Amino acid sequence: LVALTGVNKHFGDLHVLKDINLSIAKGEVIVVIGPSGSGKSTLCRAINRLEPIDSGTITLDGQPLPSEGRALARLRADVGMVFQSFNLFAHKTILQNVTLGPCKVRKADTKQAEQRAMELLERVGVANQASKYPAQLSGGQQQRVAIARALAMDPKVILFDEPTSALDPEMIKEVLDVMIDLAKQGMTMVVVTHEMGFARTAANRVVFMADGEIVEEATPETFFTNPTSRRAQDFLGKIL
Ligand code: ATP
Ligand code: MG
Repeated sequence: LVALTGVNKHFGDLHVLKDINLSIAKGEVIVVIGPSGSGKSTLCRAINRLEPIDSGTITLDGQPLPSEGRALARLRADVGMVFQSFNLFAHKTILQNVTLGPCKVRKADTKQAEQRAMELLERVGVANQASKYPAQLSGGQQQRVAIARALAMDPKVILFDEPTSALDPEMIKEVLDVMIDLAKQGMTMVVVTHEMGFARTAANRVVFMADGEIVEEATPETFFTNPTSRRAQDFLGKIL
């Protein structure tokens, strides 16, 4: 579904993605882990072209990512993104946050978009908050709205960049449960997270990054019990 081939990215002198090769199959759940600054967020941002790359190719359904215009807007709809900081529109209601994308980008009918939004809000457990504004919700509720908003576009894949790291501990589980549910239903997902429980439960593959490189790729069982690289062993030693 998504294929990265020989992808390189620099910020000035800093080489943040070094010859990245990664393919993501339909229905696959990939957890990306690695030390701070290793390039995990940049990798996600490259996949929906929030960040242009210097060399290499990224394809979605075999097509190179578009760089502008309506094709780029469609790409952002096809490749959903959920950020650490929720990024909801503060001056719009929860319902409007979820219907805006479908109405603008997918040209959905307002009534139908609202109906679908309510179903999605129901699915993530916040339908009763639909007429409130983001600031009136807890962090966990806001993040679940952000997931519903991504789902409303019928994305082919959703990228999650540390979706629970800004949340209080008691809210982490409610967001992870929604994500585990999505994974079970076959959503293609790339998840940057240090939640090893999620990786063990939901990931098909763990990708370990360090210094802009993919150092190791393995099933969660293998990765957590038998990491082969020294850097992965050191990293796991620190976080587990
Ligand atoms: P973290 O775990 O802290 O979120 P990360 O693995 O997501 O880290 P990135 O955010 O991808 O890492 O950053 C990789 C490197 O690129 C870091 O050294 C970072 O400082 C640098 N970087 C990221 N974005 C920019 C930017 N817009 N301009 C310059 N340097 C950047
Ligand atoms: Mg990051």
